[in-house]
Amino acid sequence: MAERMLQFVRLQQQPPAKRAASVRREDFNEIYARFEPEKAGAQASRCSQCGVPFCQIHCPLQNNIPDWLKLTAEGRMEEAYEVAASTNSLPEICGRVCPQDRLCEGNCVIEKGFESVTIGSVERYIVDLAFEKGWVKPPTPTHELPWSVGIVGAGPAGLAAAERLRIRGFQVHVYDRYDRVGGLMIYGIPNFKLEKEIVLRRWDQYAAGGINFHMNVAVGQDITLDELRAKHDAVFIATGVYKARDIEVPGAELAGVVAALDYLTASNRQNLGDAVPEFDSGALNADGRDVVVIGGGDTAMDCVRTAIRQGAKSVSCLYRRDKANMPGSMREVHNAEEEGVRFLWLSAPEAFLGGLDVTGVRAVRMHLGLPDATGRQQVAPIEGSHFVQPASLVIKALGFDPEDLPAAFNEPALPVSRWGTLKVDFRTFMTALPGVFAGGDIVRGASLVVWGIRDGRDAAEQIETYIRAKAELAQAAE
Ligand code: FAD
Ligand code: SF4
Ligand code: SF4
Repeated sequence: MAERMLQFVRLQQQPPAKRAASVRREDFNEIYARFEPEKAGAQASRCSQCGVPFCQIHCPLQNNIPDWLKLTAEGRMEEAYEVAASTNSLPEICGRVCPQDRLCEGNCVIEKGFESVTIGSVERYIVDLAFEKGWVKPPTPTHELPWSVGIVGAGPAGLAAAERLRIRGFQVHVYDRYDRVGGLMIYGIPNFKLEKEIVLRRWDQYAAGGINFHMNVAVGQDITLDELRAKHDAVFIATGVYKARDIEVPGAELAGVVAALDYLTASNRQNLGDAVPEFDSGALNADGRDVVVIGGGDTAMDCVRTAIRQGAKSVSCLYRRDKANMPGSMREVHNAEEEGVRFLWLSAPEAFLGGLDVTGVRAVRMHLGLPDATGRQQVAPIEGSHFVQPASLVIKALGFDPEDLPAAFNEPALPVSRWGTLKVDFRTFMTALPGVFAGGDIVRGASLVVWGIRDGRDAAEQIETYIRAKAELAQAAE
């Protein structure tokens, strides 16, 4: 049914239904239902078709949001899908996991007083429907090119680059040390935010389009970067960041003190049906335990909510600043609160207590002080405010740093920044090594899926320019 636009004046924002906290605590399924077709059209019709669409400006991919909203409102769904897919390799995933409150929706001009257009949910709806209808086709080129590109890492950055290059006709080889594609989308982000079928169906599509996946291949161990460079006309490094930031307090070595990604990976693998001995033994399973998660970012939110679903006795989140200063998305904090997580704001761990196994966390209350040079308020402990939070499982979720890639790849000429991220020319995505490009978290530091896709998409274009220029030079020299 065709809808007129500008309906925000009469139609309220109505996101897709969210399952009740008491129900969703019991399983790992996604918490948001899908739009009913009429609802998607009606919600899309709330858009006022801005001449200067701030939603689009603040989407890292500069998606043509007003266009696909209008097409959705008019019921022209296949065209809406074509427009959504033209800028975004994984729109159904972004519709699920982007922090829209900070990106597109947070900048929708009708937000004030009327609430923004539900952009993310419409994006997800369009592409889920496209999969159902068979409109999503493998990335098959119209003609094959003789050049090949090696991509290290099958996360969003690597996959986006692979898709774009394959459509252009390149022979694409993706190497990943994991057994499944998706990077953090498969083993980091939990099912209740992104069901794994959604990632796996893309894998099928890409493989059907002729992208060659070499799984269980760790570059630096099973094959060297040098070998990849010799095999391919260009290499794109998209290995992400995986070195967990640690916390140096007494008791850090106790059994039951674990790293967030180990914990989440075990849970995701278990949900995928893999044998996970650390889960079965209880080492990485919150069932029946008092859980304390340390940290205030999205990874911490994923841990607390996973622990709830595993049947933890109690789940607390210890964060040294207050709610307003949390780095995590407010939507996720709110979801966690609804599901029964207890937040201990302005609290920092001082020691993990126990004999062999952890039994508690000694923490101290903090107060917020003056802002530092970056504008962020500093925190300082309040003397004599110690308390003990009982815990039989402590999960450290303090963020991630890059591994030492020059060492891991045995390539000292790979330049890194002082944070250990790979240095690239930001116009060309090329490192100092000719023909070696990089993008995603390994360049940006821990970031977002949508930024990974953006890097992969843009790097693909630069890789093509580089390979074609090199081929022309070689031809001219003949
Ligand atoms: P990754 O997704 O990390 O993929 C890198 C790939 O490279 C992996 O598959 C890895 O196995 C492979 N690899 C690494 N080294 C090698 C090697 N030597 N040889 C071969 N392969 C290698 N972002 C959001 O937008 N929304 C969210 O809700 C969200 N939630 C998150 C939750 C968690 C728990 C975490 C940890 C992150 C979350 N993020 C979220 C961030 C997001 O997942 C990342 O920013 C994004 O996945 C980065 O993409 P990437 O392609 O650069 O790297
Ligand atoms: Fe919004 Fe993310 Fe989609 Fe861009 S990709 S429109 S930021 S949900
Ligand atoms: Fe539509 Fe909001 Fe974007 Fe304007 S800012 S085009 S109203 S979604």
